[in-house]
Amino acid sequence: MRPLPRIGIAAAVCVLTSAAVRPAPVPIDAAPGPIFVWIAPGAGVAGWSADDAVQARRALAAWSGIVPAVRFALTDDSADAPVHVVWVSRFADARTGEARVARDHGGVVTGATIALAMRHADGRPVAGDALRALAMHEVGHLLGLQHSLNPRSIMAPVVRVRALAPEDSAALRRAFATEGLDQPAGDPRSG
Ligand SMILES: [Zn+2]
Repeated sequence: MRPLPRIGIAAAVCVLTSAAVRPAPVPIDAAPGPIFVWIAPGAGVAGWSADDAVQARRALAAWSGIVPAVRFALTDDSADAPVHVVWVSRFADARTGEARVARDHGGVVTGATIALAMRHADGRPVAGDALRALAMHEVGHLLGLQHSLNPRSIMAPVVRVRALAPEDSAALRRAFATEGLDQPAGDPRSG
């Protein structure tokens, strides 16, 4: 068994409601079709590079197609997109990513803003495959997944892997196969 990578830890700490949430569902509406995502321009954000947007797109692609309802498409018009990816230079605390997920009264996701930091609070950069993994983690929250206690999961509170684990794909399939039952085991720690 290969050891887990120990470098480039992306500590993803997220804003999540602690109440049991319904799996997220096809955000936005029940119509078949892609989930539109707007990736904010980053040129004005300290530490941003064009590759960061590439990694964000790859993160979206990693989740796309695992279940039929989850397919992302990019749009240049933020008003068209229920999901926004935005950049911050760094958070004031240990976080490097955040998913602010909006839900309706029934718990169905209606939109989200995913914020990705260019640096850890101590100044170390978050870039390349570490940034992609962080983005994958936050997109997982958008899709209704909570934290996993398995350190090999992309949904571990501190992201140490760089790709989806079989557990992650399985969690997504479960989330979209049920209506609020059999939620993936979540780490109740939030934030
Ligand atoms: Zn998280």
